[in-house]
Order: sequence, then C-alpha cells, then structure tokens
Amino acid sequence: MKFIEQNAWQFLSVKLPVLGAFLLLVLIPGLQWAVDFKLIPVEYHAYVTGGVMVFLSWLGKKWYQPSLHQPLGFVAVTAGHSNTDPGAVNGKIKESELVTNFRNAVVHYLREAGITTRTDGTGTQNDPLSSALKVIKGSSVAVEFHMNAAASKHANGIETIALPHDKKLAQDLSAAVASALGSRLRGDNGWIDQSKSARGSLAYINAGGLIVELGFISNEAELAAFQARYWIAAKAVAKVLIEYEKGA
Ligand SMILES: [Zn+2]
Repeated sequence: MKFIEQNAWQFLSVKLPVLGAFLLLVLIPGLQWAVDFKLIPVEYHAYVTGGVMVFLSWLGKKWYQPSLHQPLGFVAVTAGHSNTDPGAVNGKIKESELVTNFRNAVVHYLREAGITTRTDGTGTQNDPLSSALKVIKGSSVAVEFHMNAAASKHANGIETIALPHDKKLAQDLSAAVASALGSRLRGDNGWIDQSKSARGSLAYINAGGLIVELGFISNEAELAAFQARYWIAAKAVAKVLIEYEKGA
C-alpha cells in the first residue's frame, strides 16, 4: 500500500506546477475577460482569485508533506561482520552472507519507495564495522542485521538491540521480522536495552544504530524459515523504516 501511495505522491507533485500554470494562464485572464465584458460583477474576480490561491496553498502543503520528513537524512542499512569475518556459522552457512542478502533485500524495498539509503557494500560486498560506522554518520536511522548463535540448538527468537529512545522502533522492527518468519520475540517485546545489556558496549549502537538479530543460525528451524522467507521479512522491515522516515 505504501509503495502505491509513494508513486501517487510523486505523480501529484509533478502535476501541481502544471495545475498552477494552467490557473495563471487560463483561469485568471478568463475571469478578467468575463469582468471586462460585464458577464460577472468585478467583485467576483477577487473572490475567485483569492479562493484559488488559498486552495492551491492548501494543496501544496498537503501534497509536499511526505517529502518534508527526509530533508537531509538517509537510511543507513548495513550487514553484520564482513567478507573476512563470517560471524556465526552453521556448517557451511555463514551469518555474514545471510545478513548481506537481507541487507540487499531491505535496500531494494526502501529504494523502490523512494527512500535514500547508504550501505556498507552492494551485492556480496560486506565491509567491516569500521566502514559501517562511517556509513551511519548523518543518517536519520541506521540498522544493522545479525543472526544469533547459542550452544543450545533450541535457543530462538528475534530481538533488536537499541538505546532506550529507540525502544518503539526496535520493537516494531522485531515484530515485523517475527511475524514474517513465524518466530517469537525476545527481551521486552523484541527490544533489548543496550544500556542494560550484558553484551557490553556495542560501537554501532553507541553511534546511534539499531542491531536487529534475525533469529538463531544455530536453530535449524529458524535457519530454514529465514532462508525460505527472508524476502518477506525484509519487505516488512522496509515498511517499518519507511513509516519511521515519513513520521507516521
Ligand atoms: Zn553477528
């Protein structure tokens, strides 16, 4: 639904100046002509012109509003670990490769919706954390994807680690992933408070980012669900980010 609306906004934004030009060139001289030939009283000219201007200014505000929420910012979307650091592994399957695919899918949906993005690589490229920390500077929101791993193969669930002021966004991101993959939420409805986390200081979060853990690579069922449905989860994550960017 959001994607259709975005296209409609872009369409209307293009049409607005055309409508304005039409009114200036045709309607207002037309009214003057009608007054000159005494077809309508002169007072009507001012009323109609004033009314048209008020209407245009209202339309302009309404139509241009969606673009006001991303004046300078961009969405930073990065993949955990790197081409040389696989992160967690399950057999031949590497966390770094799964989250790179996920990053690409989220970026695809964000760009489709006209959202400006920056990433830590394209395609199979996955630059290390030091690059990710540079990429997120100046972003309006930054997310990085990881997968959890545990000694117990039963450990499961989705969580987003963030600072307290991003609690709601963290919960929304986790819920989007959990419902797409059929997983449960960990922590406080999907949010792990970085300031109370036992993980210690995570540079990405301290720099303003959110870390989304997309499930446990060590859990066969979660890994299979991720591989089968990650595009659906990525689309749901993109939707949350698009709504956040637009201030919905
Ligand atoms: Zn990781």
